[in-house]
Amino acid sequence: MRLDRYLANLQYGTRREVKQLIKANRVTVDGKKERDGSAAVPLGALVAVDGMPVGRDLQVYYLMNKPHGVVTATSDAKARTVLDLVAPADLRPGLYPVGRLDKDTTGLLLLTNDGALGHALLAPKRHVPKTYLVTLASPLTATMQAQLEAGIAFQEFVSAPAAVKVRPDTAGCEIELTIHEGKFHQVKRMLKAVGNSVTALGRIAMGPLQLPPDLAEGTYRPLTAAELASLA
Ligand code: URA
Repeated sequence: MRLDRYLANLQYGTRREVKQLIKANRVTVDGKKERDGSAAVPLGALVAVDGMPVGRDLQVYYLMNKPHGVVTATSDAKARTVLDLVAPADLRPGLYPVGRLDKDTTGLLLLTNDGALGHALLAPKRHVPKTYLVTLASPLTATMQAQLEAGIAFQEFVSAPAAVKVRPDTAGCEIELTIHEGKFHQVKRMLKAVGNSVTALGRIAMGPLQLPPDLAEGTYRPLTAAELASLA
């Protein structure tokens, strides 16, 4: 991540204001003055403005819009992984994805090197809600909606009542579905269980985090201070 973008994302000002801060010799990276806004901030670097550390600590938190066709893993013998999208490579060590999206699913994915936060968000007891934009092969009927809202019994678990919102002007073929577990292929299995099927799937929210509309697929940015505080 470039230094100017890193600071702007932490809301130290607009990209322009941040550039001025940097030019004015007020920013240090690991104790050294850095006057180049395009310099990469390495993982774990301590960035300070006027001598005050701006990062919470040495932990990093990235919000990614996962694209179609990459696997949610730290490495894979054949396929591209979400970590391959994090450049430069020195930002990658220790980073891992919190939870899993299928290869053909897009959307919000949190990457961090903070193991404690990752485990807390995934803990089954915490029931962190996840909202998906689901494109369906056929319109959602009232019966299907009622079944999703009631909870569906699978062999190994019963889904908690899901929230369903049918998107207007989609002929019932696009829904926002909020679930409370994170089982393998859960959304696809739920829709199959009610007699429908999923043609496209994207995660738009996880707990308090929302997928920013301006975050292009395949890109990521650090969590803002407010987003990070919302996860505590
Ligand atoms: N449910 C699915 O079926 N796939 C995902 O990637 C996420 C939730």
